[in-house]
Amino acid sequence: MPELPEVETTRRGIAPYLIGRRVVALAIRQPRLRWPIPQTLRRTLPGQQIENVERRAKYILAHTAAGSALLHLGMSGSLRILERDTPPGKHDHYDWQLDSGRILRFTDPRRFGSLLWQKAGTTHDLLVDLGPEPLGDAFDGDYLWQLSRGRGVAVKLFLMDQKIVVGVGNIYASEALFAAGIHPRRAASAVSRARYQRLADEVRRILAHAITRGGTTLRDFISPDGEPGYFEQELFVYGRAGEPCRVCRTPIRAIVLGQRSTFFCAVCQK
Ligand SMILES: [Zn+2]
Repeated sequence: MPELPEVETTRRGIAPYLIGRRVVALAIRQPRLRWPIPQTLRRTLPGQQIENVERRAKYILAHTAAGSALLHLGMSGSLRILERDTPPGKHDHYDWQLDSGRILRFTDPRRFGSLLWQKAGTTHDLLVDLGPEPLGDAFDGDYLWQLSRGRGVAVKLFLMDQKIVVGVGNIYASEALFAAGIHPRRAASAVSRARYQRLADEVRRILAHAITRGGTTLRDFISPDGEPGYFEQELFVYGRAGEPCRVCRTPIRAIVLGQRSTFFCAVCQK
C-alpha cells in the first residue's frame, strides 16, 4: 500500500509535468472509485491551468484558480505521465489530457483510490481534522508529549492517529518505535518527553530516508511499463515475525493492536 513516502515520491515525479499546464479534457473510464468522481470536478477541471502540486497527508493536491483536485492512491493506485496515444489497460480509470500532449493516467486494480474536488477558498471535509505533517515544523517531541498527557491508548495507535500526525502508517510506526526503543503497547501517557523527542526524530529520519530512496525511481513515472514508486524498505521489525532482531538476535514478535499487525523486539523495546 502506498504510504507517505510513495505519495511524496509520486508528487515529485508528476509535478514537473503538471505545473503550468492546462487540463484540456478528462477521460473517465471508471467513475466509481472509493467515492464517485464528483460532477463538479468533471465540469470544472477541464480548461483550468495547474498552478501548483502539493501533498497533504496522503492526498496529492493539484491547485487551479477554480479549486483543487485531491488525488489519492488508495491501496494499489499509481499515477504516471504518458504520451496521449498510450492505449489504456483494464485498470486505467482516468486520464487528464494536458496541453503538452501528455496525459496523467491513474491505474488502480483495487479501486480504493479517489479523485475529489475542493472549491477555491474551502477545505475538503477529508482534510479538515488532520494533524500536522510529520516532516513539517509543527511536529516534534514536545508536540507528541503534550498531546499524549492523560491518554491511555497504546503509543503505536496514538502515533498512527491522523488527528495527531498524518501519514505515519503501520510500517513506519512499527519501524520508528523500534528505532526509538519504545514498546508499541506502552500507554501514550507513559512515554517520557525525552523518549517522544527520540520518537519524533526517528519518524522524520525514517520517512525522509524512504523519500530519498524513492527519488531513484522517479524516471518510472514517465515509463509505460515501469512499476512506479513502491520501493523496497530496509525493515528492522515490520513483517519479520520469528526472524532474529537485527540488533540483539531475539526473535521478532507479532501482536495485533487496533486490528493491525504489530511487530517489535521485546528486548530492544520497553
Ligand atoms: Zn532486539
